[in-house]
Amino acid sequence: MRKITVAVDGYSSCGKSTMAKTLAKSVGYIYVDTGAMYRSVALYALRHNYVSGGVVDVERLASDLDNVAITFAPDGKAMLNGECVESEIRGIEVSKTVSHVSAIPEVRAHLVKLQKAMGDKGGVVMDGRDIGTVVFPNAELKLFVTADAAIRARRRFDELKAKGQSADYDEILANVKERDHLDETRAVSPLRKADDAIILDNSNMTIDEQNVWVMEKFKEACQD
Ligand code: C5P
Repeated sequence: MRKITVAVDGYSSCGKSTMAKTLAKSVGYIYVDTGAMYRSVALYALRHNYVSGGVVDVERLASDLDNVAITFAPDGKAMLNGECVESEIRGIEVSKTVSHVSAIPEVRAHLVKLQKAMGDKGGVVMDGRDIGTVVFPNAELKLFVTADAAIRARRRFDELKAKGQSADYDEILANVKERDHLDETRAVSPLRKADDAIILDNSNMTIDEQNVWVMEKFKEACQD
């Protein structure tokens, strides 16, 4: 069977990654979490003091991007210059900075280039904000996932708690809403549904129901 490209976009903490990861595993495709790539650049910027009071020093970060190597370990964990940063990039500090970093055109150009190379042979499920609109505008299957903001914040809270990380529900909800706003209103590649994407609102869906739904869409797309 030919290998297609699956683009999964949508709002913060709406379960895109869970869905994309499960689909990739079931059908033997590569999974790429592009949010982890933007988060890794945000972590790099924080560590190098390119962020002060929430403001990013665009010039210094942009001129240092060639020193930022982002890869994924075989188990899918994000690696920044060879170091596993999977846990650190999910914390609130990075979450608060990432949408400022991802709005920088040089950062987007750098990461989009890497993402195109990762998926250029098809057989990939990639999730993010601009996959169906910018990275793979010709993807055979485009999904756009959304859910109520309070439900998304609750899921993120439960996820961090389950991992033993500290979490404050109100802070997470405020962050989810702020990122939605920044991601939707940025000048370069704002978050928006591609015209040919299928919408999934999973507010009242279980993960199992979601997996059944996505597998159906995948099979349909492979037949087209
Ligand atoms: O998917 P996740 O919530 O981990 O993404 C973190 C942030 O990275 C988003 O809020 C957004 O600012 C940025 N992002 C992006 N484009 C992508 C993926 C993520 O701008 N393709």
